[in-house]
Amino acid sequence: MLKLYNTLSRKKEEFVPIKETVGFYSCGPTVYNYAHIGNLRAYICADILKRTLKYNNYKIKHVMNITDVGHLTDDADSGEDKIEKGAEREGKTVWEIADFYTKTFKDDMKKLNIQEPDVWCKATEHIKEMIDMIKKIETAGYTYSAGGNLYFDTSKFKHYSELARLKLDDLKEGARTEVDENKKHPRDFVLWFSLEGSKFGKSHTMKWESPWGTGYPGWHIECCAMSSKYLGNQFDIHSGGIDHIPVHHTNEIAQAETAMNVHPWVKLWFHNNFLIVKEGKMAKSAENFLKLGLLEKKGYRPLSYRYFCLGSHYRSELNFSWKALDNVENSYEKFKNKIIEIRNNKKGGTTDTSSHIKKFESAINDDLNTPVALAVTLDLMNDDKIAADSKYAAICKFDEVLGLNIGEMKENKIEASANIQKLLKDREQARKNKDWKLADELRDKIKKEGFEIEDTKTGPKLKKT
Ligand code: AMP
Ligand code: ZN
Repeated sequence: MLKLYNTLSRKKEEFVPIKETVGFYSCGPTVYNYAHIGNLRAYICADILKRTLKYNNYKIKHVMNITDVGHLTDDADSGEDKIEKGAEREGKTVWEIADFYTKTFKDDMKKLNIQEPDVWCKATEHIKEMIDMIKKIETAGYTYSAGGNLYFDTSKFKHYSELARLKLDDLKEGARTEVDENKKHPRDFVLWFSLEGSKFGKSHTMKWESPWGTGYPGWHIECCAMSSKYLGNQFDIHSGGIDHIPVHHTNEIAQAETAMNVHPWVKLWFHNNFLIVKEGKMAKSAENFLKLGLLEKKGYRPLSYRYFCLGSHYRSELNFSWKALDNVENSYEKFKNKIIEIRNNKKGGTTDTSSHIKKFESAINDDLNTPVALAVTLDLMNDDKIAADSKYAAICKFDEVLGLNIGEMKENKIEASANIQKLLKDREQARKNKDWKLADELRDKIKKEGFEIEDTKTGPKLKKT
């Protein structure tokens, strides 16, 4: 039985899909800059969820949006449009910015072995669907116009505080946000910005005609419009980081439930916790912004970052430091070498891996407990009673969830010259002849050339020093 924590109920619940195919929507990236490794943690967590559902034989339809319009620098409808700001920063058009960072995001996903969604959908290609949904909200009586913009009246929606457990009396727009005097209540939000009305978007280049004037949609409407188009009026799982609980997802629920007259709109809300650095949450706007490309430049492998993420539960904060990443890179290297050794090994033993499999499955089915699942995998790898090929088969099955690409793990290619290869061969011969003195001399010679010898069960291996 698969149990997952639902933010809506604040409990772990048995997962029971609405229909045969699980409908799963993930809030995708805002493509005005590279994703940072905190964002990427969110997509690794959603990937583990998707893989666990597949492991449990569920069919899935996974939809992910690309936010290429209307997401302001502040969630509370003030500030500038992030994409427009990116275009200004880089001297490119908004469309070029969105295309470029969509591509870099997809490249990062591939490197991290994150499976692609069944449907990618861009906000700018679904403006009509958004306008249609706003019309439905308007007909249902939940909107008002002010200063030219169209707003959602949160005071009329009785379930507004449910997801975030907000205390509505305390709700004031934070001091950091510029208060929008058009709003009747601080939590109200924009459904449609008209270029006349918006004090923030006068020079907006992305704009469309609408019943509320020429302008552009508010950020929250896109996920409702696109999810209903591809997954229907109600669906099973919606994912994102915990920062989305109080504003973005709360507002999405308000829109979807009033437009489509459903409750609950989404059955299970899945939220990952943050990747944390010394200064706090890693954020695109802050200096502590690290991208996957930088990790690679420094010699860390993308899959070792995935391994790092698997080592902590998705609902816990994950502390990032270079030292922690160094340790993980070493553990990942050992893990990889052990996998290769098992794959090449012909050692016999018991073929029964059922107790390890049972432990692995109870870990992942207990709200995706990846740290325990990883520990069970390591236990199995080190269990000498089990035949190597049975071990390898079970580990490959576990990898359907872990996504470490175990089948593709290869030894590091060492570019050693023919001369060094010859010295290594001679040393092997010396060892066979039990000429330890010569063997040691040859080892020292190889070391002077910059290589260490590691004697493994499958023969000597060269490592760069
Ligand atoms: P964005 O591209 O800003 O819309 O963010 C993409 C995803 O990353 C969202 O689901 C966010 O909730 C999530 N996210 C943002 N910052 C972090 C972080 N430091 N750690 C984990 N997830 C994050
Ligand atoms: Zn969303």
